[in-house]
Amino acid sequence: MKKIVILGATGSIGDNTLDIISRFPDRLQILGLTANSHDVKLEKLIRTYAPKVVALADPKAATALENRMGRGGVEVLAGIEGLVEVARLAEADLVISAIVGAAGLLPTLAAIQAGKTVALANKEPLVMAGEIIKREAELNGVSLLPIDSEHSAIFQILHGERHEDIKRLILTASGGPLLRYSDEQKRGVSQKEALAHPNWKMGPKISIDSATLMNKGLEIIEARWLFDLPPDKIDVVIHPQSIIHSMVEFVDRSVVAQMGLPDMRTPISYVLHYPERAPLALPSLDLAAVGTLTFEKPDLKAFPLLSTAYETLKTGGTLPSVLNAANEEAVDAFLNAQIGFSDITPVIQRTLEAHSPQPAQALEEVIEADRWARTEGRRWIRHYANA
Ligand code: NAD
Ligand code: MG
Repeated sequence: MKKIVILGATGSIGDNTLDIISRFPDRLQILGLTANSHDVKLEKLIRTYAPKVVALADPKAATALENRMGRGGVEVLAGIEGLVEVARLAEADLVISAIVGAAGLLPTLAAIQAGKTVALANKEPLVMAGEIIKREAELNGVSLLPIDSEHSAIFQILHGERHEDIKRLILTASGGPLLRYSDEQKRGVSQKEALAHPNWKMGPKISIDSATLMNKGLEIIEARWLFDLPPDKIDVVIHPQSIIHSMVEFVDRSVVAQMGLPDMRTPISYVLHYPERAPLALPSLDLAAVGTLTFEKPDLKAFPLLSTAYETLKTGGTLPSVLNAANEEAVDAFLNAQIGFSDITPVIQRTLEAHSPQPAQALEEVIEADRWARTEGRRWIRHYANA
């Protein structure tokens, strides 16, 4: 029996992970769950999956949950210490890192330092602290298994290949819901329009990141660390159908693609059963029904955050942490109707310009840069909100 901890169990990746786990009751078992705060959904998960321990980031919510569940049931932990404790549970075989944003950094790092195999959906910690996370994974002999569909595709393609035989990675991007919008149209985009991803149903933050293409920018940085390749070996191609999840070109010019219908349950099942595969009763890819797969060069004028991500990665140090934090603040401000969709990009860019990058060898440096960027980012948010 594989014992599993899910960090961020109540989100979209959490849902898909629990869907797969419930299909294999004799192989996969839930040991611990975490969430941000207390809600009906979490209580339902506790009753269905009977985890030994849960942790809520919000301490008041943890107390409320404990009172409702009564004594003798599940153990309820609170705050960041609680999340870290669940991430390190001695009996855990696999930790699914599926919190959204920088909030996942400390629990994910704790799981790695405790020697757990970590399946990573939560890409923001790798963006912020890729070098530190890779170093800790190596020190602790930990495998990082990607969940993000593009990185899962590359991970599957690279199985059995030599690192020196890779010419480049080709990340595919759907282009999101606003691919064909003019700048003028983007200015008036509502939250609802920007959230409406054509191919994937995901949490709100990554949905907005997909509309700005910041998600692809974060994924370039994620790929840099997961596959240990420089930015000039990581390309992006727009592929609106989301059937090819990514490709690798090898030195002999052979290009290998991984395909499937856009459904996160496939990459999630892959990490849950790795290194084996388990049969899933999901629809098969019918290429004749799909008909056409198309590809285009990303329009860097329409989606400047893609170039911003490359430049940020090349500079490195604390700058990726600033990029991530400024983006989180800007997306949050857009979702709270404080700024318009077209203000997201300048808030991020102005914040990056104001930063003097420092080396980021230590976690404190990364966290300090994150804190600085949120303050600076909010200053720019107020500026654009009043403009
Ligand atoms: P979501 O918003 O649906 O869920 C986020 C989860 O994190 C919830 O369980 C929430 O309770 C928890 N959480 C939020 N803030 C927290 C905090 N401050 N402290 C502790 N827990 C907190 O997000 P999602 O779409 O499931 O995405 C999760 C991660 O996976 C993101 O990093 C995203 O980029 C990545 N990802 C998601 C998808 C997808 O299909 N949804 C695909 C690829 C990668
Ligand atoms: Mg992705």
